[in-house]
Amino acid sequence: MLKRMADKLGSHFHGHSKEHYPLSRSPIYSPISSIQSSASSGSSLLPQYEHRGSISTERTSLSASDWSKRGDSLDFIEEEEKPLSRHRKHKGNYRIDDFIIQRTLGTGSFGRVHLVRSKHNLRFYAIKVLRKDKVVRMKQVEHTNNEQYILADISHPFIVNLWGTFQDATNLYMVMDFVPGGELFSLLRRSNRFPDPVAKFYAAEVALALNHLHSLNIIYRDLKPENILLNSDGHIKVADFGFAKACSSVTWTLCGTPDYLAPEIIGQQRYNKSVDWYALGVLIYEMLTGLPPYHQAQGNPAILYEKIAAGPEHLRWPISTNPEEVFPPLAKDLIVKLMEGNPSKRYGNMQHGAGDVFAHPWFREVDWYKLCAREVTAPYLPKINGDGDASAFENYDEDFEATASYGLPADDPYGHCFPDFEYSYES
Ligand code: AMP
Repeated sequence: MLKRMADKLGSHFHGHSKEHYPLSRSPIYSPISSIQSSASSGSSLLPQYEHRGSISTERTSLSASDWSKRGDSLDFIEEEEKPLSRHRKHKGNYRIDDFIIQRTLGTGSFGRVHLVRSKHNLRFYAIKVLRKDKVVRMKQVEHTNNEQYILADISHPFIVNLWGTFQDATNLYMVMDFVPGGELFSLLRRSNRFPDPVAKFYAAEVALALNHLHSLNIIYRDLKPENILLNSDGHIKVADFGFAKACSSVTWTLCGTPDYLAPEIIGQQRYNKSVDWYALGVLIYEMLTGLPPYHQAQGNPAILYEKIAAGPEHLRWPISTNPEEVFPPLAKDLIVKLMEGNPSKRYGNMQHGAGDVFAHPWFREVDWYKLCAREVTAPYLPKINGDGDASAFENYDEDFEATASYGLPADDPYGHCFPDFEYSYES
C-alpha cells in the first residue's frame, strides 16, 4: 500500500537533489483518485530551492454543526473547544483598484501572493490571488472556502490576520497583513540549524497557535517551516490555511506535506487534530538538525512512507563527540512523544491534551503567558528597511499579463462556488 501511495506521489519529489535540500517546499494537491501536481510555478528559484509539496484528497468531513458559536476566551493553555462562529470579524468592501501591486511575495498552487499598498491609507498588505478556474479544476473549492471561513474568524497573535476577501470574474482575493520577516524556512536554511533555545522559541509559539486552532476545532494540516512567517518583531505568524479544516472529530482527507505526514494519514485512516502535534515533532527535529527526520536525498517517496510508518523508534539522531552539539535529550524525548505512531498515545492527544506538550520538560523555562503576550524577546529580528520592505522574500518573476487582467470583466462560470467572497464589480 505504501508503495502504491509512493508511486502516486512520486512525481512531487522532483525538487530534491543529492547535495541540497530544497530551500522551501510548495503545496501539491493530489486527489486520491488522480494525484495531480500543483508544485509552485513562476518562481525564479534554483531547482534545489523549490518548495516541498503537499497532498490532498477531496473527501471531507465538514459538518454544519462545526460552525456554531464560539466563546472569546484567550486562556491559551486551557482553551476549551469552541467551534467557530459564522460571523466575520472584518467585513471590508475591497476591490483590486484600492491597491497598487508592488511585487510578488510567493507563489502558491493556484495563484500568487502580492505585496500591495492601499491607495487609501498607504499601508502595505499581502493579497493572495487565486484563479477560480484552477481552484475548481484542482478540486480545491471546499478547501479554499474553508481557508476563507477559518481565517475570517480567527484572531491570534501567532496567526496571520485576514482583513477581507473579494472576487472578480476570474480571481479570488484575500487581503492579509503583510508579514515582512520572510519564511522561517529561509532563516533555517541560512542558519543550517537552530540552537536549542531558538528551536524551542519557535516550537513554543507554534504550539500556542496549534492549541488555539484546536480549541476552535480546526485542524491545520500543513505545518512546515515554509508556512511559518516572521513578523517584524521576530514573532511567528502561521500562514496558508489552504488545508485547514473545521472538524470536531475525525476526517480522512489525504493532505499535508510528505515529510510532515503522520502515519495514519499515509495509511489512509481516519485521523484527528493530533496530526498537527505529529507535525510539530517533525518541525522540532528539522529545526534542530536542519533536515526533516526521514529526509530522502534521492527523493524516494516509498522509503519516506515506510520510515514514517515504522515509527519514531527508528529515527536517526545526529551523533557528535562535541558535547555542545549533542542532540538535546529533552528535545529528543518530546519529538518521540509527538511523533508517536499510535494517535491515542501521542502527546497533545491524550487525557491532558495540549497540556502534556506545554508541561514537557523541554519547555520548562518557557513562560507561556509572557510568550502568548509577545513579551518574550524573539531570538532573531528580521532586518527590515522600513514599511513595505520585502527583501526577506525570494525574488519571483512577475506575471504582468495576469496582474493586468485583475478586476477586468470576463465570463464567470465559477463565481457561485465561492459565496463568501464578495463581488467587487457589477457582474
Ligand atoms: P500561500 O499560498 O498562502 O502558501 O503563500 C505563498 C507564499 O506567499 C508564502 O509561502 C509566503 O512566502 C508568502 N506569503 C503568504 N502570505 C503572506 C503574508 N501575509 N505576508 C507575507 N508573505 C506572505
